[in-house]
Amino acid sequence: MTPRDVLKMIEQKKVQFIDLRFMDFPGLWQHLTLPVSELTLESFNHGFGFDGSSIRGWQAINESDMLLVPVADTARIDPFMQHTTLSMISDVRDPITKKEYSRDPRSIARKAVSFLQKTKIADRAMFGPELEFFIFDYAWYDQGINYAKYQVGSREGIWTRGDEDVTNLGQKIRLKEGYFPCPPIDTMHNIRSEMVSELINLGIPVEAHHHEVATGGQCEIDMRYQDLLKMADNVMIYKYVAKNVAARHGKVATFMPKPLFQDNGSGMHIHFSLWKGDKPLFAGNKYAGLSQLGLWAIGGILKHARALCALCNPTTNSYKRLVPGYEAPVNLVYSSRNRSAAIRIPMYSEKVQTKRIEFRCPDSSCNPYLAFSAMTMAAIDGIQNKIDPGDPLDKDIYRLTSAEYEKLQSAPINLEEALDALENDHDFLLSGDVFTADVIHYWIKYKRENEVEAIRVRPHPYEFCMYFDI
Ligand code: GLU
Ligand code: MG
Ligand code: MG
Repeated sequence: MTPRDVLKMIEQKKVQFIDLRFMDFPGLWQHLTLPVSELTLESFNHGFGFDGSSIRGWQAINESDMLLVPVADTARIDPFMQHTTLSMISDVRDPITKKEYSRDPRSIARKAVSFLQKTKIADRAMFGPELEFFIFDYAWYDQGINYAKYQVGSREGIWTRGDEDVTNLGQKIRLKEGYFPCPPIDTMHNIRSEMVSELINLGIPVEAHHHEVATGGQCEIDMRYQDLLKMADNVMIYKYVAKNVAARHGKVATFMPKPLFQDNGSGMHIHFSLWKGDKPLFAGNKYAGLSQLGLWAIGGILKHARALCALCNPTTNSYKRLVPGYEAPVNLVYSSRNRSAAIRIPMYSEKVQTKRIEFRCPDSSCNPYLAFSAMTMAAIDGIQNKIDPGDPLDKDIYRLTSAEYEKLQSAPINLEEALDALENDHDFLLSGDVFTADVIHYWIKYKRENEVEAIRVRPHPYEFCMYFDI
């Protein structure tokens, strides 16, 4: 869609408002709304001024003026707003230099794509993320917040699943059996179908939706794979739709990676492949139908996996998911067979077009623009330096002997460890100026100061259970 098409659409649909979307540094969508009369053809070049100083992770107050430049191709009528509103994802620019703002994640994603093309390795990086999320009642959510805020309540409670109502077993999902009985046990079916209809109306192709393993409304909707930038945009739209449809029903959708102790968390496995024209570059005749290039890409991702976690699993809660026994990976190995490996090579189909690798560490608390770009950069490093991924591990990792287990590299055990890993290993991200040193430095600083430290200094509710009687 061109700017002229957008103006035509505005007339046809009698649009009243323009809503400009952009994200803060950690990846939450923000918006600015304008009466439709403010938008002209020039707006697509000149953008709209706004104060970027209060946006998490952005400009200091003394250099806060910025521009939001709408991207015509992302124009859509927003299905959740009362007045007819056309929303557009926007790029962020500096009003003086007119250059892209280097901390705008969308600009980083664009640079990752052009760097990939410059290397001549491939012309497209394709992504298929599988976002999982929970739908909770507001009452449950309030209870969770209260626990966090006041740390009161019973000794067990939600932190230990002691709140399970064991007397009512009728038509309820049994522990870890949410994948995937029919309604009425799956009480989230209709709400998911509504989310999928909204996504399809917004032009996002969806392949399937289903309940996930965990009890209590864990859901997954799978979008058809797309190129890097488009898929990162789609992830933002997906989360927006899931949260707004849930809100329509008086419920709340959360992408927090591990809301429930002792139950499965929510991941965002990322299916990834590189293409040249219509040639899938990961298909070949090596292990699990991979090409040599595909194996090197795995080598790069595994080599940098601990640093990648700081961008793909960027919250303190992310590491409560990456523990054994819940289908989330812990060890940095690859395999075609098991889901406990950090990288799996799906074997559903013989078709070369479907040959891809699945990186299972990420979760949807990540900023998709940064996560996809970082994965692409790690794969490029693997390919350029012919990094051998070693042998695959085709056993259930959770059942290895301790001697076997000790040899494996593990994912970081907390956000602190991940940020340390990124601090020590980020040269691969700086190639082609894709991630600037400022972006890496500021990401680490932001996360350490605002998240790691925030949790470190607060008494945890479970500490009351362990220590209150001391
Ligand atoms: N929920 C699991 C995770 O945290 C994944 C389940 C699945 O394989 O789809 O990664
Ligand atoms: Mg899943
Ligand atoms: Mg998966």
